[in-house]
This record gives sequence, C-alpha cells and structure tokens, in this order.
Amino acid sequence: NCTHTTGDQIDGNLLVAKALVKAGVECMFGVVGIPVTSLANHAVSLGIRFLAFHNEQSAGYAASAYGYLTGRPGVLLTVSGPGCVHGLAGLSNAATNTWPMVLISGSCDQRDFGRGDFQELDQIAVVKPFSKFSVKVTSIDRIPNSVFGVLDEAVSGRPGGCYLDLPSDVLHQTVSESEAENLLLSAMNSRKHEANGNIETIEIEKAVSALRQAERPLIVFGKGAAYAKAENELKELVESTKIPFLPTPMGKGLLPDAHDLAATAARSLAIGRCDVALVVGARLNWLLHFGEPPKWSKDVKFIVIDVSKDEIELRKPYLGLIGDAKKVLSMINKKVKDDPFCLGESHTWAQAISNKVKENVSRMEAQLAKDVVPFNFHTPMRIIRDAILGLGSPAPILVSEGANTMDVGRAVLLQMEPRTRLDAGTWGTMGVGLGYCIAAAVASPERLVVAVEGDSGFGFSAMEVETLVRYQLPVTVIVFNNGGVYGGDRRRPEEITGPHKDDPAPTSFVPDAGYHVLIEAFGGKGYIARDPNELKSALSEAFSARKPAVINVIIDPYAGAESGRLQHKN
Ligand code: ADP
Repeated sequence: NCTHTTGDQIDGNLLVAKALVKAGVECMFGVVGIPVTSLANHAVSLGIRFLAFHNEQSAGYAASAYGYLTGRPGVLLTVSGPGCVHGLAGLSNAATNTWPMVLISGSCDQRDFGRGDFQELDQIAVVKPFSKFSVKVTSIDRIPNSVFGVLDEAVSGRPGGCYLDLPSDVLHQTVSESEAENLLLSAMNSRKHEANGNIETIEIEKAVSALRQAERPLIVFGKGAAYAKAENELKELVESTKIPFLPTPMGKGLLPDAHDLAATAARSLAIGRCDVALVVGARLNWLLHFGEPPKWSKDVKFIVIDVSKDEIELRKPYLGLIGDAKKVLSMINKKVKDDPFCLGESHTWAQAISNKVKENVSRMEAQLAKDVVPFNFHTPMRIIRDAILGLGSPAPILVSEGANTMDVGRAVLLQMEPRTRLDAGTWGTMGVGLGYCIAAAVASPERLVVAVEGDSGFGFSAMEVETLVRYQLPVTVIVFNNGGVYGGDRRRPEEITGPHKDDPAPTSFVPDAGYHVLIEAFGGKGYIARDPNELKSALSEAFSARKPAVINVIIDPYAGAESGRLQHKN
C-alpha cells in the first residue's frame, strides 16, 4: 500500500508525517497496515523513530507511558477498525492515568462508509469515552491543523488521550508542495499557547499557614507530581520543614525511598493520624482510600495541588490549589522561606513515624534475609533489589505488574530516582509490561530497564520480546513464574467437579513454563533461575550485557495470595 508523491504534489500520508515532524514528534509506536503503512515509512524517512509492535494493545501502552516519561504526547499509529479497537487499550490507559497520548488511526474511505467498507467503523464514536479531544480529517488541507490540535490538546491542562482519524481517501488526496508548506505554516502560527493559571497569594498563605499550624502534617505525592517534574521543589519543601512524606506507588522515587523522612513503611500510621495532608498530583481515589475514614482520620484537612479544576471540585478539599505542581510548590517554598518553620527531629509526630518505619523495616528485613527455596516471592525480590541498587545511578526504570509480584515488589524494591517506576497504575491494568519496557528504553536511553512481573502479566504481550530483540533494547524482563494467575492450580479435590473437571483451573498455566526459551527463538538471551545463585548470576550477566533478556524465575506455585492485596475486592 505504498502511496507516493508525483511531481511537486504530495499526498496526505506525507503531509501527516511532515506535520508530526514540525510538531516535534520524535517517536511513534504502532502496527502498520492499510491505510497507514506509507505514513509510517514517510515518518521514518523524515527522522521519526517508529517502534513497530506485534499488537496495538502493547504499542498503545507504550505510547501512554512514553507520554508520562517525557511530558510529550506518546503517539500510537494503527490501521482502521480492529486496529483502532485494539489501540483503545492504550488510549483508555492514558486517559485513566492522565497521561498525554495521541491515537492516530487510519479509517475507511468516507464515500464508502455505511456500506460495509473494509474495516469500517465509526471510530470517532468508539474513542469518545477515552479521549478529551478527537477529530476526523475530512480533507487534506485540514491535516496540519488537526495534527497540531490533537498533540496540543493531549498535553494541555490535565493531560490525557486524544484521537486523530485519517480516512484513507484523505491520505491519498494530494496538494502541491508549496501549498503543503503554506498549510503547515499557517497551522503552526495559529497554535494555541496555554494560558498560565493564576494562583492567588492568599491561597498560598492559607496552605502554608495550615501546614505551619498542623500537629501532624504529611506531604503525599503521586504520579502527577512526577509528571510535573516537581522533585526539586518537593525536596526543598520536605527538607526545609522536615514534614514526613508518603509517595503513591508511582510517586516513589521523586524523593529517595531511603530518605529519613519517608513514611512509606509507616503508611497506615501516617495517613491514619495526620491532621493536615498536602496532596500533590495524586487523586484521592481508591489508591488513597478516597481520603476517608477508617484509613484517614475524619478531621484531616486536605490541601490538594492539581492541574485539574474538575479534580478539586470532585474532592472538595479544605483547600484546592489549581495549577502545575512544580509552580505551585515553588510558590509555597518561597512563602516558607520568607517565614521558615520546621518540625525538628524531636517532634513527637516525626519521631512516631520514624520509630514505626524502623520497626516495620526491620521486620521486613528479617523476612527477606531468609533464603527460601523453592522460591517464595520475597527471596528473589531481595536479590533483585540488591542487584538493582548495586547499579547505582542512573537507576534503571522498573516496570512492575502482576498481583503478588507487584505488591511484594512495591514494598521491597527501592526507588531512588524520579520517574523510575511504571506499574499497573490507576486502573490496575495488567498486560502493560512489555509495552512499558519498550517506551522506557526509548524515552530514557541512558537507563537500563528492568521488568519484574508475574507470569500472567508477562503473557499478555510476551510476543513483544521479539520487538525488544529487533531494536536491541537494554531490557531485562524478570518473570515470576508461579504457574498461573495468583498461582498454580490450588483447588481442593472437592472443588473439582462438573463435566469439565479435567480442564486446568481458570487460574493456572502450564506448570514450569519455559518463558526464557521464548526470547531465545529470536536471538535474545534467556535464563532460568530456581535458586539464589542462579538468580544472582543471571542478573549480573543480564545487567552488564544491556541486551534484551528474559529471566524465568521459578516460584513455588503455592506462594502468593489470590488477588494479591486486593482480596476484599474479589
Ligand atoms: P497516583 O496514582 O500517583 O496517586 P493519580 O494519577 O491518581 O496519581 O493523580 C495524578 C493527578 O495529577 C491527576 O489528578 C492529574 O490531574 C494531576 N496532574 C497531572 N499533571 C499535573 C501537573 N503538571 N501538576 C499538578 N497536577 C498534575
């Protein structure tokens, strides 16, 4: 399906590629086919890196994570109909996590729509719940404006997913090169520049005064603060006031997990007893127990910093500061600097948290110190933690998914640098692993990428190990293989009844599956690890090679709990 350019005419495919380049897009993820293959080829010729996947779902997860890591929209390119539908996984994930992403799909010929055309679908209707802005390009002259429009919308205000629909007839229309240049130029000139929101000084004063008067203040931050790159401002605030802090799972690393004021290992105490909580770029949703009792005290005053007015209106905090976390925090810091206050180490609240952290950490360390074989979740996790810490800086980006693997990993693995953790996120999305690995490797080429995931999470997109090998990305995928979703077949004999009793349990996979062999089929490196020595040597070899590798860690199928730590929701 190679469309091309004749004389000084260029077609829609080339014009889209030119507009993407002009808008600063450096990288795209996707699966090519009718009618967008030539668009991808043109984009590559013009200098855009195209990461070609096996499945749009994975490519979409990659685009969403790329948006989060870089602060620029991750772009996913798909074919029409089913390609667009598969891409919805990534778009919805971006929308839910509030990450900037643009899904670009080809669509059927406008004249044939409604008559059962090839891969026909009303794609604008389909993407609606997951996009903050979508546009169908109805003629070639609309291309530059539409491309800039979706890219700008994805990052404006609260970041999110946007959609660009490219009918095949538009991709084949042509304009002269000079006309194309004019269209690009005038669209560039009419791009909107986001107005900066204004925060009243009085609001900042109110926030600082509430923190100053608090007996048990806490600073909570999430992936919105990470997206805003607010780490320096958070460090300044925490270190000048000595207020303890609690990161959400993906907020981990904005300040090092090993920081003296980290309350992570005393989470229940910190949120249960704090009287004023400054919440930065984190929603008071299920992950933070809706900010309600019994997890939080009923009198806690929330001061919420969020770029989204809707979010503030939804939560009705004591005080809402609408704006970019980095900017708002620097205003707060300035105010604190003018009239400093500090909890001090002898403060009973800081002491109580620090004592609880020490107690919980030493209990966890005692559990981790044992070498349990066949492996439980803790022993290999400790070995992985130590191997990652041994790498120093730049720390690798950790990708984590799976119920037990992610839960245990969140507690054991330490995040020492900002934006080095990607996990199942707000939606608890499983299957993100390989896509996130590829996005991380492309977005942060200086870092190694280490995925620690369950066998079930890995299986969603295991074929993308070929993509890792094809692009030679420095990614080590560690599969915690306990033979199924939550574990192997754990049914008691009396539970195994009915006409299909000879089928394996819905939770189980082939026991002892050779996941490491998968990557070897494509020339990557595979390892199997059944004990601490095998795991240590595999990690050391894979990390120093910086080449695609899969380490198949065999875990006791009876280790791990159903639904991990979310049993109450099952
Ligand atoms: P977590 O899962 O870490 O708790 P959430 O995804 O629930 O984090 O919340 C992130 C919040 O951050 C969202 O409400 C989003 O609107 C907000 N946000 C996104 N970008 C920024 C920014 N630049 N400044 C402040 N808040 C932001």
